[in-house]
Amino acid sequence: MTNRTFTMIKPDGVENGHIGAILEKITASGFRIVAMKLTQMTKADAETFYAVHNERPFFGELVEFMTRGPIVAAVLEKENAVADFRTLIGATNPADAAEGTIRALYATSMGENAVHGSDSDENAAIESAFHFAGREMF
Ligand code: UDP
Repeated sequence: MTNRTFTMIKPDGVENGHIGAILEKITASGFRIVAMKLTQMTKADAETFYAVHNERPFFGELVEFMTRGPIVAAVLEKENAVADFRTLIGATNPADAAEGTIRALYATSMGENAVHGSDSDENAAIESAFHFAGREMF
């Protein structure tokens, strides 16, 4: 999975009509979409996906948010994909996100921050396999 990362346009990004603009920014930044779908996470899905955060005070709110509507899940390919995509999305809190990053442009708060990006090659592989079968990745 080296050179691949996993992303979601979160429910706020979909609700606010930013799917097209976010995908345009992603592809214009040199990422190739190798898998993509509109889907909705169940509570069990979100609890599993974010299990690393299950002791954190924001966990309940995060699960509630991530399951309240559809998301766009996608696998992206580019040299240095994980790190370059984290740069493209910006800091978790949009108030700290660099100008021009996806979160600076489209996030509304620390929790509702428009997009997810994997934080390691290992997690990119795990998260991609969580949402896509092998035959859905091109
Ligand atoms: N989050 C939150 N409150 C916090 C920290 C994180 O609601 O204080 C949410 C936010 O949606 C974030 C997700 O939990 O994107 C995962 O947190 P992480 O620290 O992994 O941030 P990321 O890798 O998404 O920037």
